[in-house]
Amino acid sequence: MRRINFLSLLIILLILLMFNNSIFAKKKVEEQKELAISWINNNNSFLIEISNKIWKYAETALREYKSSQLLIEVLEKAGFKVEKGVAGMPTAFVATYGKGEPVIGILAEYDALPGLSQKVSTKKEPLVPGAPGHGCGHNLFGTASLGAVLAVKFVMEKYNLPGTIKLFGCPAEETVVGKTFMAREGIFDNLSAAIAWHPSTTTKVNTGSSLAMNNFKVFFYGHTAHAASDPWNGRSALDAVELMNIGVNFLREHIRPTARIHYVILNGGKAPNVVPDFAEVWYYVRDVNRKNVEEIYKRVLNIIKGASLMTDTKYKIEFITAVHSVLPNITGSKVMQKNLEKIGAPKFTPLEIDFAKGIQESCNKETKGLNQKIEPFKVTIDQRGGSTDVAEVSRITPTVQLNVACAPLGVPWHSWAVVASSGHTIGHKGMLIATKVMALTAIDFLNDNKLIEKMWKEFKEKTKGEKYKSPLPEGLKLALPKK
Ligand SMILES: [Zn+2]
Repeated sequence: MRRINFLSLLIILLILLMFNNSIFAKKKVEEQKELAISWINNNNSFLIEISNKIWKYAETALREYKSSQLLIEVLEKAGFKVEKGVAGMPTAFVATYGKGEPVIGILAEYDALPGLSQKVSTKKEPLVPGAPGHGCGHNLFGTASLGAVLAVKFVMEKYNLPGTIKLFGCPAEETVVGKTFMAREGIFDNLSAAIAWHPSTTTKVNTGSSLAMNNFKVFFYGHTAHAASDPWNGRSALDAVELMNIGVNFLREHIRPTARIHYVILNGGKAPNVVPDFAEVWYYVRDVNRKNVEEIYKRVLNIIKGASLMTDTKYKIEFITAVHSVLPNITGSKVMQKNLEKIGAPKFTPLEIDFAKGIQESCNKETKGLNQKIEPFKVTIDQRGGSTDVAEVSRITPTVQLNVACAPLGVPWHSWAVVASSGHTIGHKGMLIATKVMALTAIDFLNDNKLIEKMWKEFKEKTKGEKYKSPLPEGLKLALPKK
């Protein structure tokens, strides 16, 4: 009897101790999170300054020299080891702090879009006519990711936290190139988890997917001739482009409704009285998964061959890039949701709402102002919209993504309206929320190996244990722009 009593007492004591330990551990994580938040609050003007500099640099894909240099300088000064020019891209980098597992990666983007230069104004007014602008808010994207790793490093140092935090400097998102080529080189291998965000018009943890895509150009080569005096000696490269497009447009009836095919003719000759000996067409083929895209692509290749035979022209295909669809990690997303709820959606002032309404008026949109609430968490199979190279990372390691309102509701994305908001306090507010939510999520990941295991379990179930395979054709060389 006494022995039983002693045993039960011991068990109760052990349970109490374990319970106490878990409360203590939770409290410690909460303290770490508060420290990260206060670091971000104390450094908000520093981060806004960086964001504004990148906004002004407005460098397009693979030309982000000043933007990447600025981020690298700050990271090196903070004690990160930075590997520069990774995967053959001068503006790609990996910054690392800490040692051992878990290894948490945060993704940064910083490329602008051509022709979108815009003042911080409610009307379309270029800052430098014809110059690029941040129409996707990547100045905010890159800066929030930078702020998040700096805050996490500060916490890791103070609490002697084991593990590694990495910032991936990913150029050329707009051409869906950066992460795809980095992924092929194994840059994202050995990560425990990855975190990303994107400016938006709403605030939510993004559990949706995206479309897989092949991006390629076709060049046709014919023979020139006078279009009136000896057209029988000509072989029109433009005819080949047109016949290819007709073939593809007929193909549309026999592909899944989820597919999207779009093209532009980049060169169709210079004058009607000259049979064009050169023509160029640029294609995107998209669908919900790689398998569908590859099936359609194969059929498009036959159409190209057919067009060339019909017109007696030669052709060359320049494959540019390709991506998977995003594989969301719901286990990790739920943790991110808790952190988003803790931080809250951005709160905007009446002046900011007026600014947003001004933009909406200029865009002929309803003057609904700004979204100030968090969207309810829901698991979707939403694959609307475009393609992103975050997909490649999400197929290598469990990846979570956040959206934060940084622009007025309903305005066209990739437009002057987003450039204006990304340089305004509206964008800055959203950016600082993203900085905090990403830092807090990284702190959760660093503190909880069981959570990482659960995220990997989901990942392995979804990928069925298949190893990542680059969607790029073997041996494809990255085309760098001329300086
Ligand atoms: Zn973007």
